[in-house]
Amino acid sequence: MNKTMNVPLLDLKAQYARIKKDIAPVVEEVLESQVFILGPKVEELERNIAAYCQAGFGVGVSSGTDALLVSLMALGVKLGDEVITTPFTFFATAGTISRLKARPVFADIDPVTFNLDPAKVEAAITPKTRCILPVHLFGQCADMDPILEVARQRGIPVLEDAAQSIGAQYKGRRAGAMAELGAFSFFPSKNLGGFGDGGLVVTNDPALAETIKALRMHGEHARYYHRSVGGNFRLDAFQAAVLNVKLRHLDQWSTARRANAAYYDRRFRESGLTDRGLVRTPAAAYKDSGDLHFHIYNQYTLRVKDRDRMMPHLKAHGVGAAIYYPLPLHLQECFADLGYKPGDFPESERAASEAVSIPIYPELTDEQKDYVVETIKSFYA
Ligand SMILES: *Cc1c(COP(=O)(O)O)cnc(C)c1O
Repeated sequence: MNKTMNVPLLDLKAQYARIKKDIAPVVEEVLESQVFILGPKVEELERNIAAYCQAGFGVGVSSGTDALLVSLMALGVKLGDEVITTPFTFFATAGTISRLKARPVFADIDPVTFNLDPAKVEAAITPKTRCILPVHLFGQCADMDPILEVARQRGIPVLEDAAQSIGAQYKGRRAGAMAELGAFSFFPSKNLGGFGDGGLVVTNDPALAETIKALRMHGEHARYYHRSVGGNFRLDAFQAAVLNVKLRHLDQWSTARRANAAYYDRRFRESGLTDRGLVRTPAAAYKDSGDLHFHIYNQYTLRVKDRDRMMPHLKAHGVGAAIYYPLPLHLQECFADLGYKPGDFPESERAASEAVSIPIYPELTDEQKDYVVETIKSFYA
């Protein structure tokens, strides 16, 4: 390699430069209205996201974490209950279960998609199971049909953690709207990111939508009258105003991410790294089904040999890369009292030791992608 480049993991400035002129007027509108919490901009976003996800209702909340928390609260998850989820995810998925004094029960992942293995979910069900919480990790849906089937047989509600997967499709259905509830995050690095924290819950159940609207306002059913204890989980108008503008670009950004992924897939194949077993490109599980399955690549996550030695090499050559996630949740210190130990979820542990996410953001150039592949190739040279 004869030159060095700088390829960040994500370049939000490149995105902002292209939409700046559409953002300024809506921010100005919020300033002029002096309506900062909920209000018409949030209601507009709720309608827009619900329609985008093919869901009946949307409820804007303060973050993806709070979208999960308030959803679990709405389902009545409490002390003594169990919630089945994956240990290979962002912390909030299981953290919110614990905050309600319920027990996260982990089930291992499918090594191809990094998502919950439906057979492992079924095996983890007990009479205490109060909810199943699949995550659509990195932008690809979990295998929902068998999960929904066992859940429905036993009357267990399902909450989708769709924080990384807005717009992803599974058999023609959109992430977040396949089950009772779906939780989204608008953290700036998500595919639809705000200018701060934000989140949203979608559902097809009008009663659940009403419950969540009450819970995000401290459980009020009428002003200053409380039937239940909720919290302040409200979304602010600035975020909603920005997100309404960004949503118009989302499909185009997802298409660009998918094109980048296809380009990497080809380049890694041509590099010989995949044939030599040094690099595995992400989940081709649903690839051949065209538009019915739709990975939106919030992350493009490789499995690589010698991952931990590769990280400093990437850094030294200016390639932004990150490890999502280095320690599965069943081995986190805060969950020691759950009694899990190394070896309990071998696929999740293997993924945690092999996975590395490389730049995939929409504005990435071919030259940058070539450089990323060359840099990885040079590590093994
Ligand atoms: C980002 C994320 C969350 C939490 O969203 P925040 O908006 O950061 O609170 C939850 N689950 C997953 C899988 C995420 O990636």
